[in-house]
Amino acid sequence: MSDESTMKIDAKLGLDVFKLDKEPHIVIDTEVCRTLCVDRACLYVCPASLYELDDTGRMTVNWEGCLECGTCMICCDKRALTWKYPRGPYGVQYRMS
Ligand code: SF4
Repeated sequence: MSDESTMKIDAKLGLDVFKLDKEPHIVIDTEVCRTLCVDRACLYVCPASLYELDDTGRMTVNWEGCLECGTCMICCDKRALTWKYPRGPYGVQYRMS
């Protein structure tokens, strides 16, 4: 029998609910990414793996699944991200701690 203390992180995160706004709360300046970024840290630091390169090599973020940790904003030393918390009552609603 599984309780909160023995659940794996993926199972816990799977219980979260996302209330989506129409406007993204993360916007990427793709020109800054293309011309200034070398390490592409956002591809590796996001715990939800929301950053991807599309077929043309352009950085994208699937902000709808954002856990609002802020890690990508801190790691983007080229300041290519405009990041803010979703407007209330939008965003992630955690079900487990
Ligand atoms: Fe991923 Fe956290 Fe950035 Fe959201 S705030 S996109 S979960 S790294």
